[in-house]
Amino acid sequence: MRSTALLAPLVFVLAAVVVGTAGCAAAGSGGSPGIRPALSPIDQGEVPDDTTVYDTDVPAVARLDGDLRAALTAASDRAAGEDITLRINSGWRSPEMQERLLRDAVSTYGSLDEASRWVATPETSAHVSGDAVDVGPFDGAYWLDLHGAEFGLCRTYVNEPWHFELRPDAPMVGCPDQYLDPTEDPRMAG
Ligand SMILES: [Zn+2]
Repeated sequence: MRSTALLAPLVFVLAAVVVGTAGCAAAGSGGSPGIRPALSPIDQGEVPDDTTVYDTDVPAVARLDGDLRAALTAASDRAAGEDITLRINSGWRSPEMQERLLRDAVSTYGSLDEASRWVATPETSAHVSGDAVDVGPFDGAYWLDLHGAEFGLCRTYVNEPWHFELRPDAPMVGCPDQYLDPTEDPRMAG
């Protein structure tokens, strides 16, 4: 099967411990001085605490790809039966919000090269196109890592144990190998 199968649980724990929610999961707060967003934070993709896929009035959920949202709903239903809640820490994001996250990451990590291991540009982000979700809390993301394939939900990156995208073939053939981080993802070449 996939080469990362044995390593994945260990990396999952290490990545979660090391980075916490500092990567693409954290929406951050506020804007930069001098930049006044045209839309409210919620309308730009900020996610209120305790949001789930059932909160379809939240734009970050409502503007997800329909097939991805349907798969997440099915997975959330199943998880609930096992007393696991899948929270949506981030979903769809406006290009403006993604740009701000990237600026924040450059400030945090000190360079665009390092920031690009964690945050994509507005042009390449699967969040901006509505094709990715960041799932929490830890036990929710871990549950989805174990069971997501049967719903077509796959982790994309080894370094982001919370980030899932739809892979429609996964119920038949399993999830594809993960990239170590977004810099290995050919879609990020932009
Ligand atoms: Zn993400």
